[in-house]
This record gives sequence, structure tokens and C-alpha cells, in this order.
Amino acid sequence: MSDELKLVFDEPPQRKKVPKHLADFSPAERKEFAASFGLPGYRASQVATHYFSHLSNDPSTWSDIPAEMRQSIADQLTPKLINLVRSITCDNGMTRKDLWKLHDGVLVESVLMRYTDRVTVCISSQAGCGMNCPFCATGQAGLTRNLSAGEITEQIVAAARACADGELPGGATRLSNIVFMGMGEPLANYNAVMRSVRNITDPNPDGLGISARSVTVSTVGLVNGIEKLTEEGISVTLAVSLHTPDDELRDSLVPINSRWKVKEVLAAADAYEKKTGRRYSIEYAMIRDINDQSWRSDLLGRLLKNRNAHVNLIPLNPTPGSKWTASRPQDEAEFVRILESYGVPVTVRDTRGREIDGACGQLAAAEKTRED
Ligand code: SAH
Repeated sequence: MSDELKLVFDEPPQRKKVPKHLADFSPAERKEFAASFGLPGYRASQVATHYFSHLSNDPSTWSDIPAEMRQSIADQLTPKLINLVRSITCDNGMTRKDLWKLHDGVLVESVLMRYTDRVTVCISSQAGCGMNCPFCATGQAGLTRNLSAGEITEQIVAAARACADGELPGGATRLSNIVFMGMGEPLANYNAVMRSVRNITDPNPDGLGISARSVTVSTVGLVNGIEKLTEEGISVTLAVSLHTPDDELRDSLVPINSRWKVKEVLAAADAYEKKTGRRYSIEYAMIRDINDQSWRSDLLGRLLKNRNAHVNLIPLNPTPGSKWTASRPQDEAEFVRILESYGVPVTVRDTRGREIDGACGQLAAAEKTRED
């Protein structure tokens, strides 16, 4: 074997390990993490206070740590895991999409949206996605890798910092809501997502102190993941991307349906609702002439009428090259009318960020094309 070939066989492409970050660990583990650098445990608490309570990324201001140690401690405990490539805004700056490069060059995105009564960030839990839903831009490229809890939390802390620093029009504000509706399937990266959720909900200085009900975890319907979440004892809002009430179509729109059927997914969501008392949300992308017929609305109404669920209709945001488009307004209106006739609460998601392909993986996909 030539040396060149030998090299190829001996060294399969190795992913560089994601650097460890304070946000990867529980508050108790953070002390051991600090100890691994020869630091006393209280340094972990000090840095957590700067990171989660003050949202500070400027160690020169960390006056409870000796000046000459600040930078190295910051680098050890809170290494910069996400680097901003580009931001684009729309809606007069009230919507901002950030494209982040991770330490190994992988790209992910998050979207920050300011409303009159709240500020929501939509974050990515994976680079790419393995769920392969044909209408979703992220699904087209497959799964690159899971994000670490640190990489997920960094997106959230960056959003909280942007709010506090008054980067959005309207002045300084607080980040109020976090939705796991960016790239990836959160329940397929369960542990990192749950660590991130705790980082959101733990009170200062261990976390951001945002209530669990302000956090939405959206899933294609991984029943084992929903069951685990039910046992977790944390009442986040669960969103299930159903997209159609019948297994026949769902097998192709949401391919994991071949593993867990509509009935099983709804039963798992019901058990979650029973345990937490939280109404869940059914996400439904309205695709013209594919899943928007009135008989489907009727079937969905019958499925949901005795359940504590509400339907969130999302006008399809067509992906480049897709033959599918959003429903006609009259079909959407009829769909809503039928659901309401069953007493099912329905909202039509606003199309925030549509011009910038908000939260459908399209910015990262475009950037990749530019680089290729
Ligand atoms: N994997 C998770 C979360 C990511 S996507 C999930 O599937 O729930 C967040 C939501 O956006 C999902 O309901 C998803 O189906 C929807 N979505 C994806 N691509 C879309 C598109 N092109 N237009 C409208 N909604 C889309």
C-alpha cells in the first residue's frame, strides 16, 4: 500500500472535539470542571454569575477575579464556541437572523424576533437534521452533527445579551421566550437539549432564570423522546410537528412516521399534557393541495376535539427548487373554520422573517453553496 493510501485508511476523518464549556455541566459538575484546570470550585460560581446573570463576555470587567487570571479563566471555562458570520434583518430590524460558525467550521443559525409583548429566539439544536422531511431546507442536507449544550446555550446567551445591550430597535429589553425550532430535531439530541433547558430555567447565577413555560421544544414526534421528557419533571411547552392527521401522507411528509404513527405520537403528547398540565401545540405547515384539503381539517378536528392541544398553522415557506408552495388564502380560511367548528383553538403563525427565510435552514444552506 502506498504511503498516501495508508494515510487515508489509517486516519478516517476525525471530528475535532467541541471544547468543553461551563454550560455543558450542571452547577455541581461545574466545580469539578474548574478543578480540572486546577481552579478552586468558587471560580466556577463566579464565572457562572458573569455568564448567566450579567451576560458578560468581557473578562476585563470580572473584578472578583485577579486581573492577570481573568482572560485565561474565561478561555478555560467559557471558550467562545460560536462566531458570528453574518446577521441579516427584516421587519424594520425587529427580526434578526444570525449565522454562526462553530469551532470546526460547521454553520448554524438562530433568529431573534421582537414583538410588542415579548422577545423570542429560535435556536438550533443540531447542525443539519436527520429527519429528512421533504419540505424543510434543513432536512435536505442531512445531519452533520449534534450541537453540544454549550453551543446551544451560547446561542441563547448571545440573544439575551443582544436584548440587554439594546441591539434591537426599541431599546434594551429582556429575552422572554426560547423556541427549539431552528435547525435540528431537539429530541434526537436529548441530553444536550435538556442541559440547555436547565441553563435557561435555573435561577441566576446557575442559569438565566427564565420560566420553563416560556421554552418550546418542537419535535417531529420521537415518542421515546416525548416519554423521556414526560419523566423529566420540567414543564416546557411541547410542540408536535404533525403536518397531517393521516398516516398515509405523514409517512412521506415526516418520514419518522414509519416508526411512530399519528396515534402513538398524540398518545405520548397526551401523557405529557397529563403529567405537566401544559397544553401542547400541533404544528401544521400548510402546503397547497398536499395537506390543506377540508377533509384533512375535518379529520384533524375529530382527532383533537377532546384533547388539550392547539393548532399552529404555518404557511409553507418554500425551499429553493421545491415544487410545493403555501396554501391559497381561501383554503387556509376554510381549514381554520372547520377546526374551530370542533372547538379546537387555532392560530396562523405570522410570517416573521419570511424574506430572510427565518428558521428553515435556508441561510446556512445558502452560505454553504457560496463556500462550496
Ligand atoms: N425538528 C423539529 C424542530 C425544527 S423545525 C420539528 O420538526 O418540530 C420547526 C418547525 O418548522 C417544524 O414544525 C417544521 O416542520 C417547520 N418547518 C420546516 N420547514 C418548513 C417550511 N419550509 N415551511 C414552513 N414550516 C417549516
